[in-house]
Amino acid sequence: MKMLLTGGAGYIGSHTAVALLEAGHDVAVVDNYANSSAEAIKRVEKITGKNVSLYEADCCDNTRMLEILKTEMPDCIIHFAGLKAVGESVEIPIEYYRNNIDSTLTLLECMRELGLKSIVFSSSATVYGDDNVPPFTEGMPRGVCTNPYGWTKWMQEQMLTDAASASASGKREWKTPLSVVLLRYFNPVGAHESGLIGEDPQGIPNNLMPYISQVAVGRRDHLTVFGNDYDTPDGTCRRDYIHVMDLAEGHVKAAEYAASHEGSEVFNLGTGDPFSVLEMVEAFGKACGHPVAYEIGPRRAGDVQDSWANADKAKEVLGWEAKRGIDEICRDAWNWQSKNPKGYSK
Ligand code: NAD
Ligand code: UDP
Repeated sequence: MKMLLTGGAGYIGSHTAVALLEAGHDVAVVDNYANSSAEAIKRVEKITGKNVSLYEADCCDNTRMLEILKTEMPDCIIHFAGLKAVGESVEIPIEYYRNNIDSTLTLLECMRELGLKSIVFSSSATVYGDDNVPPFTEGMPRGVCTNPYGWTKWMQEQMLTDAASASASGKREWKTPLSVVLLRYFNPVGAHESGLIGEDPQGIPNNLMPYISQVAVGRRDHLTVFGNDYDTPDGTCRRDYIHVMDLAEGHVKAAEYAASHEGSEVFNLGTGDPFSVLEMVEAFGKACGHPVAYEIGPRRAGDVQDSWANADKAKEVLGWEAKRGIDEICRDAWNWQSKNPKGYSK
């Protein structure tokens, strides 16, 4: 099948491109390089020995997206494109709402016009809010988000679900009922085992694993652990860290599912196993062969104490489950970081 990946040059998109190509699918990528570079796609081609059709374009540009989608006519769109930094979204909410909401509306308009059927969307466990108690299941009511980034995910889920319902009625100008798959990612980490592609955050990393990696490689002095007074065994927050290649393989299953179904479905993509901040620091130290320096600091505003998935639905319906554990995660993150200490920029 032909898959079109918006934001496909980014961290999760580039790993998913590898998994799709290896599963025998054709891949087209649309990216404006707001947070990535074409180098990632060159490396995807190097890993797989296959070509990717690459378009530099903004997914909010309706005319251009219509042109690209008319050329490609994909069996499924996987919509990764978006701005994703939680802290930045508090500072520039309008840019976040404009980019994330507009890109999704633009895709839906183009899909309706061209009669394209399937879309898989990158959502987040953040939509569970902080009132639900983990493990989170897809049937739980969505919660209150603590930042504009989270609300964009919440709203995009709603827009896609509403469009799927409207398209099923066969009314108005819908040519075909839509198939929408919402994937709620937990904490994607790690890198492709080749060490050729990985996470390449711009500036100071916001997320735990890239921060630990940069301390380990000597780019930063120490990690600040955001609070050790939570009600958890070691006092630090717990998360469900999922290897990005497991996540990528989840997208292959989800896109194949979307292409042969109608309506909307939600799936958690997580491992179901929580690890604390200090457990991750310890595991990374083992992988890189030396301890990772850290200090305990104050809590970070907006952090939830615990977040992990119940991943049963993806296993039952998609036949997918995460296979890699934290040792593989840390090994592959270190392999990428040590081979590319400054990311793609060398
Ligand atoms: P990323 O920033 O590496 O990738 C996003 C890509 O989208 C980048 O290549 C960027 O250049 C591109 N992009 C942004 N706006 C665009 C636009 N208007 N037109 C074209 N391209 C555009 O991020 P990622 O970690 O790969 O995340 C992919 C998706 O998954 C995002 O939607 C993100 O919100 C979501 N997500 C990520 C995480 C995570 O922890 N990484 C967790 C949950 C959900
Ligand atoms: N964290 C930390 N120091 C950092 C970055 C993150 O202690 O420099 C903690 C953070 O408080 C959270 C966990 O690591 O408990 C995962 O944070 P991340 O931002 O990676 O993911 P999210 O909070 O979005 O799940």
